[in-house]
Amino acid sequence: VKIAKRTGKVEIYRNGVLKEAQRRFSIESRLRDALSQGGLSLAYQPLIHLQTGEITGFEALARWNDPELGNVPPTEFIAVAEESGLITSLGRWAAYEAAQALSRWDAKYGQPLPVGVNVNVSAIQIARDDVESMFEEAVRYAGIDGRRMTAELTESAIVADPDKARKWLVALKDLNMSIAMDDFGTGFSNLASLHSLPIDILKIDRSFVSSMLEDHDKMVIVRTILSLAESLNLKVTAEGIETQALALQLQNMGCWQGQGYYFARPMNETDAFDYWRARWNFETI
Ligand code: C2E
Ligand code: MG
Ligand code: MG
Ligand code: MG
Repeated sequence: VKIAKRTGKVEIYRNGVLKEAQRRFSIESRLRDALSQGGLSLAYQPLIHLQTGEITGFEALARWNDPELGNVPPTEFIAVAEESGLITSLGRWAAYEAAQALSRWDAKYGQPLPVGVNVNVSAIQIARDDVESMFEEAVRYAGIDGRRMTAELTESAIVADPDKARKWLVALKDLNMSIAMDDFGTGFSNLASLHSLPIDILKIDRSFVSSMLEDHDKMVIVRTILSLAESLNLKVTAEGIETQALALQLQNMGCWQGQGYYFARPMNETDAFDYWRARWNFETI
């Protein structure tokens, strides 16, 4: 009986590994098609100035609804894109699409909207592609001001090669773009490089923010990041704000910007524009 049980487990394990490999393979090949056929879209989640209630911009988040695979979550297809090298074309597409969304909103509104857009940039993409000229071309092609674009990168993008990071971060600053450190607190930032690189914004990871009212340790971490940012003259965005209590607490703690389901979920381009037009300002948070 014991042996049968064991082989059974091995079978289940084998099937599991096989299924995983098949899934990964089909995601990669479907994603390749989606990228060449316009099968991806961006969803836009509002970024709220916590002190004034204004909508300062949107984070652009990749979405993929495949005819065969259905909705594939970004955490899953971004990982496959990074492993397969498809992240370069995905990242290029996202930068162009986000810049063009801004110019389409401007055209609809009749003048430039006072909002920007944040684009996520993967560390693998940075290692393999010329991200400076990618943004330069995206901004020029869309005819928008570089000031309205923010690149969100994770700590790993800098840890791997700080000297290279400096070069392209400086190039993005030459385009007047802002740089945000995404998921801050989950990686291994070198505090010296945080200070010496041209970073503008720290985005506190959702894992610290969403439970900080119940979990004292998380609250301590958020306070520490806020005071670190103040000393380094950086702005702070809190992600994962799911309740009004959290929004108010972060407002009281002097946090600059917030993002989360309490304000709005990521929306398609049209809904994001309508949302901005209807309530460009949260009178009260
Ligand atoms: P991220 O850059 O940290 O984006 C924030 C994620 O938190 C988004 O998940 C957003 O929908 C989610 N979120 C925002 N507010 C709340 C909230 O109040 N509660 C909860 N539970 N979640 C909230 P999403 O869209 O699933 O994206 C996951 C990750 O995939 C992103 O994390 C980012 O790392 C990656 N990603 C998405 N689009 C792109 C892209 O175009 N390029 C790259 N390189 N990565 C991307
Ligand atoms: Mg992000
Ligand atoms: Mg984030
Ligand atoms: Mg995150």
